[in-house]
Parts: sequence; C-alpha cells; structure tokens
Amino acid sequence: MADWQTLSDRINHVAPSATLAVDSKAKAMKAAGIDVIGFGAGEPNFPTPAPIVAAAAAAVQDPKNYRYTPTAGLPELRQAIADKTLRDSGYEVDPSQVIVTNGGKQAVYESFQILLNEGDEVIIPTPYWTSYPEAVKLAGGVPVTVFAGADRNFEPSIEAIEAARTEHTKAIIVNTPNNPTGAVWKPETVKAIAQWAIEHHVWVISDEIYEHLNYDGAKTTYIGAAVPEVRSQLLVLNGVAKTYAMPGWRVGWMIAPVDVAKAASKLQGHMTSNVNNISQRAAIEAVSGSLDAVYEMRAAFDKRRQTIVAALNDIEGVNCPTPTGAFYAFADVTALLNKPIGTNKTTFANTSELAAALLDEGHVAAVPGEAFGAPGYLRFSYALADDDLVEGMRRMKRWIED
Ligand code: GLU
Repeated sequence: MADWQTLSDRINHVAPSATLAVDSKAKAMKAAGIDVIGFGAGEPNFPTPAPIVAAAAAAVQDPKNYRYTPTAGLPELRQAIADKTLRDSGYEVDPSQVIVTNGGKQAVYESFQILLNEGDEVIIPTPYWTSYPEAVKLAGGVPVTVFAGADRNFEPSIEAIEAARTEHTKAIIVNTPNNPTGAVWKPETVKAIAQWAIEHHVWVISDEIYEHLNYDGAKTTYIGAAVPEVRSQLLVLNGVAKTYAMPGWRVGWMIAPVDVAKAASKLQGHMTSNVNNISQRAAIEAVSGSLDAVYEMRAAFDKRRQTIVAALNDIEGVNCPTPTGAFYAFADVTALLNKPIGTNKTTFANTSELAAALLDEGHVAAVPGEAFGAPGYLRFSYALADDDLVEGMRRMKRWIED
C-alpha cells in the first residue's frame, strides 16, 4: 500500500469486534452448508414479541414515519424510556435527559466521544465487553483495565480501582449484569464504585442492557438508584436488543445529565440523525408494554443456563462458575492449553487458537477470552435453541475428550 493510501492511525489501532467476527464466521460456515452450533454473539433466538412487531407493522403504514424526526428520538419514546426508568430502576429522569441511539453500541461510542480528551483514561473492570476499550481508543482515550477473577465473582475491588486511578482518570465503566461473565455485582460493589467516583470526580458509565436477566434471586443494582448523588455524573446506557429479543432493530439509549444529553444529540446530528422511526415505534411498545414475555424468555434462559453450566463442567479441563445474570457462561479452560487436543491433536498456546480450532474442526462457535481481556477463558452465549445447546455441548465434549 502506498503511503497516501494508508488509513488513519485511529482506525488502524482499533481491533475488529471479536464477538461479531466469531458470529459472522459461524454464519458464513452455516451458509456454506456446514452445520455449526453458534455460542458466539449474544443474540436471543426468540422472535420479537408479537405486540412489538404489530406496532412496527402499523408504523410502516403511517406516512408520518417516512420523514426525519428529532435527532434525540421521538418525544413519545423518550417519555416512555423515562417512565420505564422509574418503573424498573426506581428513580425519576426527565425525557430531556434521554437520547435514543442506534443500538446500545452507539450510546457506548458517543459516551466516550463526548467525555474524553486525548489521553484521558477510562477504568474498565475486566473481563469487559469487547467494544469498550475500542470505543475509548476511538475517542483518543486510554483504556485502563482492572482485572477481577472468578474468586471475586469477577467484581473489581475499590482498592484495585483506586490503584489504577491517576490524574488522567476521567470515567469508569459499570456493567452489571455483566457481559462476558454473567456476574451480577453485589450492591456493595456498585455503591462503593459510586462513592469512589463522587469522591474523585470521575464520570460513571453504567451499561444496564442486561438489567432484566437475573437468576437464582440475584437482582440488578441500579447505580443511580443506589446512590442518588452520583446521578449528576452518571451516563446510563441501555437498549431493547437483549430484553425484548430485538438485536436487529437497533434501538438503544443514553440517559445523562441534560448538558451531556444535548452533546450526544449534537454528535448524532452529524453522525446518524434520527434512529429508524419504525424501530422507534416498536421500541415504544416494548418499553411501555408488559414484561410478561421478557419473564418467559428469562425462564427459558434460566433452564439453558443450568444445562450449559453442568455440561461445561462435565468436560475434562473446563471449569465454569455459575453465572446469575445475562445469557453468558464464562468458562476457565486454561487446563486445556499446552496439551494435544482436538481432531488433529493440536497443542494450543492460547484460547484464541483453541476457539478457532473448536469452530473449524468441532463446528462449535465460542468467543475466546482474549476478546474480553481475559485469556484462558471461553465465552458461551446460551441464547440459542435448547436442542442446539445440547448438541453443541456434546460436540465440544467429544472434540476435547475423544
Ligand atoms: N453484545 C453482544 C455480544 O457481546 C452482541 C455482539 C456485539 O455487538 O458485541 O455478543
């Protein structure tokens, strides 16, 4: 490539999304006629509930939805999100604080674009969702990881967070229920982070997209409810994808202090303008309708959770703690490294290579821990059909043990 053809440092320094890469490879293999079982992307296998689809179908017939609408979101949806926040999180927000985004991912991206100057640091509890550090880097920021292992339910300690703080620390991410670990953080952990952030003037970015997916009596702690004083420095990120089986509809949101919300709207005005109106109308039905369908899906996820954790722990060299949230099982497979396994009795030095071979030879897609700052682990999304789950686990066991 000639010099003039070189792309920007900004894009060259960003890693591709590993979750989407595994998912698209698995889907491409399926399209080529290979029977692959996909535990890759966290994508609910259920159809979007019928009333939501009906709202979209009605919206598509209504010419008012064919036009540009306000960049920050349809006023009815911003109001519905404010109402839903009171219902679920237990505190009031004004619709002017709500910005509707193209999926939760755009809300993540915008948060850092709005808050960070070159060199500002963001503390990222690790294991982390794969796009957080890349979104920080795209804004000129520096990701600072703070690791916590299974022995601590993957919850960062305040001592470790404080040790990572410097004069450049601008923000910290909170993500509970957590992707990739499935951990639901204890109220004390969430409260301590809020108190620490208040004391040290650090923004808090709370990604609450798995809020309704809790099991075994675990409950989501909403940081803005637990410590009301943090709300003036809090950005809450959320979306309809995981809760209502709507990943392809691309509706997320940010709730932030009004000045921050206005800045997000300004940015969006140059990036994407309004989110697709049909999807926004569907989202109004989703967030203001009953949660019954959500609880039904949660019950199904719960059964799969128990099945997959038992199946993983039944495989030699795999150790999977029981997650109590989201729809991910995060298994420690370090015992499988550096010894011959798989169809060709290959020795794998890391989980990236192991996951690639598991897909190529075993036809089972999982995301390697490297994508989440946690080498030695594999992440399995159990938002797939029950039969596929059982078959995928059978294949993996056979691939490893036989
Ligand atoms: N958030 C989901 C996951 O972690 C979907 C893929 C992505 O956007 O990362 O698998």
